Amino acid sequence: MPSADGRGPGDFPAADDPTREAGAPTWMSSELAGVPDEFQRLWTPYRMAYIQQGQQPEPHACPFCVAPTLADADGLVVHRGRTAFVIMNLFPYNTGHVMICPYRHVATYDLATTEETAEIALLTQQAMRTITAVSGNHGFNIGMNQGQVAGAGIADHLHQHIVPRWATDANFFPIIAKTKALPRLIEEVRAELQEGWLS
Ligand SMILES: [Zn+2]
Repeated sequence: MPSADGRGPGDFPAADDPTREAGAPTWMSSELAGVPDEFQRLWTPYRMAYIQQGQQPEPHACPFCVAPTLADADGLVVHRGRTAFVIMNLFPYNTGHVMICPYRHVATYDLATTEETAEIALLTQQAMRTITAVSGNHGFNIGMNQGQVAGAGIADHLHQHIVPRWATDANFFPIIAKTKALPRLIEEVRAELQEGWLS
């Protein structure tokens, strides 16, 4: 049976062919890939680079240490407190996904000072009010992943996720649409949240 594009077995390198480029499809893999179905794929290899870089950052390369040293728009910073700040998530789970981080490079919540935990709590409340005022969401997921094993992408620098939720946001297609438009949307949303920040 020819593949979806009409090519046959002779048009593909054997799996053990030493001249085959890494990752090039073999007849078998092209066959597997050639069966169309109703699902669209969202390929996110950039996420892997982010995760790999983020999981073991050089101290100077920690994105949460670097961001506050930049201009707000360059660092995706929404709001700056005295000991903690609010930053957009570059790879949001939803539009308006922000994170609260202490300026200090500490990994887990128990290492934060009383002043830092108090300000993280205050900024969380302010972010909730601001996001709802600006975007009219219906709920939130809020939380911290502590350690790589718990899912923290940047495990060395404490950050609290605030993810706004809408009643209809479980639909797959809005997620695709948002993902396609993210670079512009993140800055748009960041500017809206910064301008509308409710202290
Ligand atoms: Zn850091």
